[in-house]
Amino acid sequence: MSATPKPHDPVYAHAREVLPGGTFGNTGADLIIREGRGSRVWDEDGNEYVDYLIGSGPMLVGHNHPEVTDAVAAQLQLGTTFFANNRQGVELAQAIIDAVPCAEKVRYASTGSEADAFAMRLARAYTGRDKILKFEGGYHGYSDYGLMSLAPKKPGNMVHAIPDSAGIPRNVAENMVIAPYNDSAAVESLIREHKGEIAAVFMEPFQRIIPPRPGFLEDMREITRKNDILLVFDEVVTGFRFGYSGAQGYYGVTPDVCTLGKTIGGGFPLSAIAGRDDIMAMFDRERAAPERYVPQVGTLSGNPIAAAAGIATLNILKRPESFEKIFATGRKLMEGLTERLARHGVQAQVVGVPPLFDLVFAGGEIRNYRDTLRGDTKKMARLNALLRERGILKGESKYYVSLTLTDADVRQTFDAWDDALAVLARE
Ligand code: PMP
Repeated sequence: MSATPKPHDPVYAHAREVLPGGTFGNTGADLIIREGRGSRVWDEDGNEYVDYLIGSGPMLVGHNHPEVTDAVAAQLQLGTTFFANNRQGVELAQAIIDAVPCAEKVRYASTGSEADAFAMRLARAYTGRDKILKFEGGYHGYSDYGLMSLAPKKPGNMVHAIPDSAGIPRNVAENMVIAPYNDSAAVESLIREHKGEIAAVFMEPFQRIIPPRPGFLEDMREITRKNDILLVFDEVVTGFRFGYSGAQGYYGVTPDVCTLGKTIGGGFPLSAIAGRDDIMAMFDRERAAPERYVPQVGTLSGNPIAAAAGIATLNILKRPESFEKIFATGRKLMEGLTERLARHGVQAQVVGVPPLFDLVFAGGEIRNYRDTLRGDTKKMARLNALLRERGILKGESKYYVSLTLTDADVRQTFDAWDDALAVLARE
């Protein structure tokens, strides 16, 4: 196997001097993006890529979209941040309420991690209980609680809370109940075991690239309602991506609260907690009982530049043809990839939905995190590297489909897949 060539640009060596591991922590040090336009990005060495990373999700309408850029430019003239209410943030809240079924009130933060951490605290405050049930492999940001059993390397026989980072206090695990995704009976039994102690079932409605089995989200809705537990959907990825009403609209199951991020900031730092009015009232000093009040402050929360970019992004996505195109492109890509795997005799399957999918190098049904561990990660990394060399940029385990992908992009992707899969099949 040939190693990916190191970038020539001096930024690469400079990054090694000033950043731990030479990176911001997100991607490898060898990826230094200079510029993005529409569906494509260019690195500092001038290499051009069809972009399926799209900033890890936010750039759903494409890079440097003129409507978003104009909205940002207009707001720039008026100043960039005020730590006070602003018109753009209020209008974006209205757009979220109009679109997202569970959203009656909206509160902002800057990142998905923060929104998730606040939503967990909100659920605890509202119910007066400490424990949160999350799923093994479920991603809810990098707080101490979110990092419980995100990607346990040695998961043992039983599903239980394992920290994914050093530096997390041991007692955090006591308040996290971990369940296998897509297993309603396991959730029911854990809720029985921790009766009266669980504040919320906190979940990605579509976990990484794994779709919920038919009836699973409905089961979660019913079990939580029956037990007076809140149902929280982390829609940081799926919000305004699985359609204008997010995964809750796509699957037809409405949670009590959801978190949003990525797309709603149009490429700027912005996230939100959105939910039922009586629950969101815990953020309201005048409505919450003093022992239930959740103060929530952030220097850049509701930032007007981010909100202006978010509104412009949502305005584009709201047009019926936008999601029609995202889904049509995604479908074409998923079918094209499935067909090519068969043609090249590569043992892998395509998992996901048209706006967001990837391969798993394993057979059998992929229902949960443990099933994904059957996947051959070495082959996956090798294929991703081969594709990078052929002008296709993606994350480790996701193809994010953007609105601006063209037929030429899809054709180039098909050619790259053909070429890379042929190499992989020979190795
Ligand atoms: N929730 C989910 C489902 C995510 O995928 C992510 C980020 N990938 C987050 C939360 C955290 O968002 P951020 O990186 O903005 O903190």
